Amino acid sequence: MESRKFRQFIEQAATLTLRQRTDLAACLNSTSLREQTCALIETTWRQACPHCGSRRLQRHGQAHGLQRHRCVACARSCNALTGTPLARLRHRGKWLTYLDSMLHSNTVRRAAALAGVHKNTSFRWRHRFLMQARHDRVGPLSGITEADETYLLESQKESRNMDRQPRRRGGSARRRGISREHDCILVARDRSGRTVDFVTGRAPLRHAQLQRCLRPAVDSAILLVTDGHAAYRVFARVSGIAHHALNPVGRGAGGRRAARAKRQRLSQPVQAMAAWSGNAWTMPE
Ligand SMILES: [Zn+2]
Repeated sequence: MESRKFRQFIEQAATLTLRQRTDLAACLNSTSLREQTCALIETTWRQACPHCGSRRLQRHGQAHGLQRHRCVACARSCNALTGTPLARLRHRGKWLTYLDSMLHSNTVRRAAALAGVHKNTSFRWRHRFLMQARHDRVGPLSGITEADETYLLESQKESRNMDRQPRRRGGSARRRGISREHDCILVARDRSGRTVDFVTGRAPLRHAQLQRCLRPAVDSAILLVTDGHAAYRVFARVSGIAHHALNPVGRGAGGRRAARAKRQRLSQPVQAMAAWSGNAWTMPE
């Protein structure tokens, strides 16, 4: 903006109503937060083509506050977020506030309020930032590693494509046990406290999901400790990983009760995570 026009702009600012001034201040503030965020993203990027790995990049204009590059080797373009879970995530001016709120273990709803985004956005962001954290994570889980799964019943309530009536917190599924109404959440933690979590998908946990999610996140020399779910046993056998089942689930009510007690002991990180995400969750027997 020319300096003459800028002076006029400042003079006009005196005529703004209180509401307009507040809006202007919020706008300027979020712009500078966006600039800070973009600068941070640029400085932490290792400057390599996400498509072919080449480091021969040429500057190729700007888009949404980030430098675009064109790869000399494969001719495709990219920026610092291409190929990461944060690519195409909007409202960058709100990311730092949101991340700060996540680090303070706020719930999805509270984080949404603090960052000024819709709760559905907050839910999506939480998963994307967690994915990004794994993306950046150095080294897999090692040593004694506990894994456990739980099932979130109400996640559909948070999604855009809601195809049924919302259910009250802590409601029950229409079908008994674990069905396609549940999202399976897998949590694994080693003794150093390093924790990973995955939404493995709908319906009960299967071996293929463990191969996809858990295998890349763990060292092959771990001792995997679980509740003895069949999927873990198959996973451990196929992957050549040592496995200790805390509770080979027995038959009858006694067996189920014991399984539940053991499961409760194992699933502390799962419970903490469920509380954090602010969701009603249920753990079917
Ligand atoms: Zn390339």
